[in-house]
Amino acid sequence: MVDKSAKALTAEATRRRTFAVISHPDAGKSTLTEALALHAKMIAEAGAVHGKAGRRSTVSDWMEMEKARGISVSSTALQFSYHSSETPDDQVNVINLVDTPGHSDFSEDTYRVLTAVDAAVMLIDAAKGLEPQTLKLFQVCRHRGIPVITVINKWDRPGQTPLELLDEIHERIGLTPTPLYWPVGIAGDFRGLLRRGEDGAATEYIRFTRTAGGAKIAPEEILDAEAAAAREGGEWETAAEESELLSASGQDHDQEMFLAGQTSPVIFASAMLNFGVRQILDTLVALAPAPGPRDDVKGTPRTVTDPFSAVVFKVQAGMDTAHRDRLAFMRIVSGVFERGMVVTHAQTGKPFTTKYAQTVFGRERSTVESAYPGDVVGLVNATALAPGHTLFTDKKVEFPPIPSFAPEHFSVLRAESASKYKQFRRAVEQLDSEGVVQILRNDIRGDAAPVMAAVGPMQFEVVAARMKAEFSVEARMEGLPYQLARRTDAESATELGRQRGVEVFTRSDGVMLALVSDKWRLQYIQKEHPELTLEPLVATA
Ligand code: GDP
Repeated sequence: MVDKSAKALTAEATRRRTFAVISHPDAGKSTLTEALALHAKMIAEAGAVHGKAGRRSTVSDWMEMEKARGISVSSTALQFSYHSSETPDDQVNVINLVDTPGHSDFSEDTYRVLTAVDAAVMLIDAAKGLEPQTLKLFQVCRHRGIPVITVINKWDRPGQTPLELLDEIHERIGLTPTPLYWPVGIAGDFRGLLRRGEDGAATEYIRFTRTAGGAKIAPEEILDAEAAAAREGGEWETAAEESELLSASGQDHDQEMFLAGQTSPVIFASAMLNFGVRQILDTLVALAPAPGPRDDVKGTPRTVTDPFSAVVFKVQAGMDTAHRDRLAFMRIVSGVFERGMVVTHAQTGKPFTTKYAQTVFGRERSTVESAYPGDVVGLVNATALAPGHTLFTDKKVEFPPIPSFAPEHFSVLRAESASKYKQFRRAVEQLDSEGVVQILRNDIRGDAAPVMAAVGPMQFEVVAARMKAEFSVEARMEGLPYQLARRTDAESATELGRQRGVEVFTRSDGVMLALVSDKWRLQYIQKEHPELTLEPLVATA
């Protein structure tokens, strides 16, 4: 029997940490994910939460797409338990790592995942510093008030100096880096980490030893400052000096500032060699917030001890050719989830059975028996569910919708054959309501040729594939030469319509968008017509 008392719920929520890694392709997200899992105990293997009976393979057209392009279409959650050596012996934490699709499958879903987490790890390549995709994802975290832990990866390879990297973070995104550990040895000569205490003084030196290929957890040797100086000489002195310098400029951790998104604890690591990975987990446990209350549409908080409620943050359709199933991923906000329970879908008021609840990571699926606040569960055959929807039991609740994010790709959509117009319209409506793409319209283009707006071009391919499979419509697409979208209003629309390189649309949620050819055009218009409304959408552009 699952204990549903407030005490048990609070304890389960308190030991959970739900986070995502935000990074640019190649920064080492996959390598880090594996390294984290190595330090932790996969719950799936331990059999504590899932049974293996429900596992099945998912061969499908989506997977075909995945195979053909060598990318991952599925965004999923990895769950593991972890005991930090810095917490009492009987404290075991449950870590949920929610994957953010990247590479060429970067899409609106990548941003939506961030609505399901309580913290983010910003993974930066020590040689490359801040990169575009990381910046975009960081802006979403900032907008949503998600605290960010910074990990400077690949310290085993030549890169910038640690102080340069911190300066870049501070100057480009206005986030104050507050290192918890400082590297001993320059990038390319990673010897260990100085643990920073009060005023930047070293509390200990964690010396790493390489293992062949980093395949195993790197052995650590803990030394005091004196022993460290004797062992590392000049490298230690430099690290100790720099650490004190940081304190002199106020770059020390402050929990309140971190939770407010103003500062970011920093850890230097090598995901490949497994250096600093334990420190990342320990930091998550010590500093990242546990699942807490979430405000509903009226602004009333739903606390973790309330009856079951969850938010859908991603829907994946058509993964299985035989069943045409739809998998909806929800993050649990309050109460206990038990497989088989009947929940209410807030948007329709209809009951929804959860017989087929699964956790998914990569190609693996396993059945979930129960889950708690912070956990991510996939529901099979969830036809009515769309991102932003709420599920609940007992006490009615509806959470605010997930905002639309700034699209950067635009394409006209038409049916290849006019005789399929009816199906075409139905398909457009369906895919729009599911949030597969954003649909924009204006009087000039009309309903037969709406414009699709997306965060990543992959979303267009999904539209084409689903139109064909589910509605038997061959879709034709034609890219539009716009790069930016800005929020505008009816007053500005007429003048904007006269400008070259601009077109005004209304999105299905009623928001008016001006699509602009490029940033120079935008700057020109803003200078010539400062009275026009041209606001950035949710801070990603
Ligand atoms: P992702 O695209 O962010 O998932 O990056 P991957 O984890 O696939 O890593 C990209 C490349 O960087 C791979 O060749 C990795 O072996 C390499 N890599 C990842 N982490 C490290 C690291 O800490 N040190 C070094 N030297 N290479 C790394």
